[in-house]
Amino acid sequence: MGRLGLFFRCAFVFASLFLSSGLFAAPGDYLGLDVLSDRCGGAVSYGEGGRCGTVRGKNLELQCRLNGACYRLNGVNVYGQCAVAGQPGRLRIGRSDWDLLIVPLLSPPAIVPPRRVCVDPGHGGRDMGAGRARGNLEEKNLTLDVAKRLEVLLKRQGVEVLLTRSGDQFVALEDRSAIANNGKCDLMVCIHFNAADSPRAEGIETYILPSQGSSSTARLHSPSAKDKKFCVNNRHDEKNLYLAYCLQKELKGLRSAVDRGVKRGRFKVLENADCPAVLVECGFLTASGEGARIADGNYRQAIANALCEGICSYGGRKK
Ligand SMILES: [Zn+2]
Repeated sequence: MGRLGLFFRCAFVFASLFLSSGLFAAPGDYLGLDVLSDRCGGAVSYGEGGRCGTVRGKNLELQCRLNGACYRLNGVNVYGQCAVAGQPGRLRIGRSDWDLLIVPLLSPPAIVPPRRVCVDPGHGGRDMGAGRARGNLEEKNLTLDVAKRLEVLLKRQGVEVLLTRSGDQFVALEDRSAIANNGKCDLMVCIHFNAADSPRAEGIETYILPSQGSSSTARLHSPSAKDKKFCVNNRHDEKNLYLAYCLQKELKGLRSAVDRGVKRGRFKVLENADCPAVLVECGFLTASGEGARIADGNYRQAIANALCEGICSYGGRKK
């Protein structure tokens, strides 16, 4: 289990204290940081004129910012469903974020180590994906390269791997999750690279499907009709979140990587996956520094290593 396992065991006791204390029976949609720190025997501190709050307890460090929807939980950025409210020096976080985001990460569901993993290299064939169409730097080639490197690493760990494509062919999005389902895979990891108009956009982000009734991170506060739909993958909401957290924790440690966080997005490839599933955007091809790093095979090997480490730590498997 290592340090991560120890953290979660301690965190479970910690989270149980909250749950058994009646905290969630209190009225109101928000919980003050002072209440949270009191209940966990920790301490709250503020910086930046009271706009940035930190709760520190044993094995827990939670940071948030007034009007922000991103929490930094033990060093990993994780986006919630509502903005932090209150006033400088008296921040309050959404009860739903505490219930559905932070507590599940502190007290993750029981995980059986995955025996078969579906690795999905994004795009392929006529679908080039994003990025610089220069040589083999098209997204579809880079995702396949990382997927094959990850396949080697996982097999070394005794994990079976099912690739949704092993060459440059087009595979429809719904067929990708069908491959994972028909192959009875224990989890699915979709690999992508990002692109943006601005060369300044950079970093790594990991997406999961929003839970039923929740909106995508990019559309907070304006849920669409689609958000009400229940998807097959919603059966795995808690494990999706924990898998994304484990992967993002490893990926953010890559050289010069910017942690863009765990986010939610209604990606069609995730909707019908009947196993925990994530979509990882491993960096921006359009960023000058990051794009150059991604062009280097050693860096892509480091991405594959981080993905393998994340999958292993999700399964509690020691490498
Ligand atoms: Zn893509």
